[in-house]
Amino acid sequence: MNRLSNRVAVITGGAQGIGAATALRLAAEGAQVAILDLNGDRAAATAEEISSTDAVVAAGGSARGLVCDVTDELRVSEAFDEVFATAGRLDILVNNAGITRDNLFFKMGRADWDSVLVTNLTSAFLCAQAAQRFMVPARYGKIVSLSSRSALGNRGQANYAAAKAAIQGLTATLALELGPFNITVNAVAPGYIATAMTAATAERVGSTTEDHQQVVADRTPLGRVGAAEEVAAAIAFFASDDSSYVSGQTLYINGGAR
Ligand code: NDP
Repeated sequence: MNRLSNRVAVITGGAQGIGAATALRLAAEGAQVAILDLNGDRAAATAEEISSTDAVVAAGGSARGLVCDVTDELRVSEAFDEVFATAGRLDILVNNAGITRDNLFFKMGRADWDSVLVTNLTSAFLCAQAAQRFMVPARYGKIVSLSSRSALGNRGQANYAAAKAAIQGLTATLALELGPFNITVNAVAPGYIATAMTAATAERVGSTTEDHQQVVADRTPLGRVGAAEEVAAAIAFFASDDSSYVSGQTLYINGGAR
């Protein structure tokens, strides 16, 4: 499926995990993808690997890595300028960069509150604002942001749950304001996806990755945890014209868990 031929996409935090799977999926559908990540070397290595994948070569897609801290307003603005200057357009933004700093509420320090809010939420504000500078004049755009099942509440994640719930409000509001310019704005809210982030959570609570995943799998109707590629597939739908009349939505991707 080459739904994204000639489209230019920015994916934040795309050097690994869900972001890397999304970069691969979009490039394999023909997009030119710019991976913005804190770790420039890893972003470049991921981009190189994606660009040499058979499916990406066959689809005419590509990937490149750019170092960018998405909490740094000036650097975000520069990075988007750089992508536009090179590619001449900007069609898709995936706000994926995120961190967790879990703790029970009564022990949660201000620094962990602030860093999670800024990295997961303010970054989406900054990147969407930078992207709309190019999308509005083109009368075309697709913005997809990562919320989380934790938006509904999750013990030990007051900061993360607040940020991910706010992503849904931001999404609904940007859909209202940017819709008249043919820009759709949607979010995905994954449940437990096997990535470095969830492996770190397992380690933090003193569990093995396998045991931690099994506990979640046992309470999930589909009987397993999710894979990054399964989130990437939903993001690709929102990034493509297959979702042309879908905006302001949050799609839960959690194996049927309520
Ligand atoms: P990972 O930790 O595997 O990847 C996140 C990436 O974001 C890393 O490459 C990280 O770089 C990068 N990043 C972090 N901070 C910044 C920053 N300030 N600027 C640029 N890049 C940054 O996470 P996942 O792939 O698991 O998660 C991706 C998104 O999906 C996140 O928003 C997460 O909250 C969300 N999500 C994940 C779920 C899961 O179960 N895995 C469930 C629900 C939502 P570095 O490693 O160098 O810090």
